[in-house]
Amino acid sequence: MNQFDYHAPTSLQETFDLLDTYGEDAHLMAGGTALVLLLQQGLVQPGHVVGLRKVNELQGIQRLDNGGLQIRAMATHRQAETSPDVQAYCEALANNFARVATIRIRNQGTVGGNLAHADPAQDPPPMLIALGGEAVVANKAGQRRIGLDEFFVDYFETAMQQGDVLLSIDLPPLAPGTRVTYKKFLPRTQDDYATVSVAAALRLGADHTCEDVRVALGAAATVPVHARKVEDALRGQRLDAEKIKDAAALVRDEVDPLDDLRGSAGYKREMARVWTQRALQELLDAGA
Ligand SMILES: Cc1cc2nc3c(=O)[nH]c(=O)nc-3n(C[C@H](O)[C@H](O)[C@H](O)COP(=O)(O)OP(=O)(O)OC[C@H]3O[C@@H](n4cnc5c(N)ncnc54)[C@H](O)[C@@H]3O)c2cc1C
Repeated sequence: MNQFDYHAPTSLQETFDLLDTYGEDAHLMAGGTALVLLLQQGLVQPGHVVGLRKVNELQGIQRLDNGGLQIRAMATHRQAETSPDVQAYCEALANNFARVATIRIRNQGTVGGNLAHADPAQDPPPMLIALGGEAVVANKAGQRRIGLDEFFVDYFETAMQQGDVLLSIDLPPLAPGTRVTYKKFLPRTQDDYATVSVAAALRLGADHTCEDVRVALGAAATVPVHARKVEDALRGQRLDAEKIKDAAALVRDEVDPLDDLRGSAGYKREMARVWTQRALQELLDAGA
């Protein structure tokens, strides 16, 4: 690992000043679970590491006045998993955080670090996309909101630029009656990254008519995939097992998986179809 100076700012302003002073030679650190591996492998070689642990503005989880939820960047996965506010907002979201790695990683790794790291096989991104989340990002010039649909731009790459800090993930209020699930296909070990994962949110009206639906997948391309074709095939339809099977088949054209040690691209494409169908069928059956 190369030598670097470690800085521990206690405010956002101090963080922006450090990023401004050291420019490209500075790298942010949250829990360090991903960054330390990158440092050890020499994949990043900053002269200055800026630790966010003491930055007050980045801590905590809270309900928003509009009924939504704000998860600030330095909240750990474990804090999110056990937070009464997350559980009250959406139990499936709390369960999603519980699917990240092992408890040691969840105690150390942060939600902001997870999103900024942008590994396409991570668990929270598809779930947060299915819930319509936005990233709140700031630099010394000001603050902006980026829909999570646009936040992930390529393999391990986000829409954030040098000097940006991810402040929080803001989720809109969940419409009453919305059913939500997360399926993580893990043929190897329970604490592995997903081979394919699917998050789905479904709101049904009378006679099982689909009033709204959102579906997103992880480990199915270089970025999390928002499965809009599947959604379009379901919205406004009276749902049954056949409609769900036909719509789930469309996900094959939306994903673009990579061959890796968890399976071939062809296998993952088929698993994306299977797990999308299972997730949607589970939500349909949940009210039966
Ligand atoms: C053994 C192991 C198993 C894992 N398994 C899973 C799994 O099953 N599912 C899963 O989802 N994840 C898994 N992970 C990934 C884990 O969730 C991430 O490593 C973690 O969330 C990253 O958070 P961190 O706080 O440690 O970030 P760090 O390692 O500190 O930072 C990661 C990157 O994000 C940047 N960053 C951090 N915070 C901010 C911020 N606020 N603003 C801008 N940039 C920022 C850093 O500069 C760095 O580039 C695993 C990791 C390990 C080591």
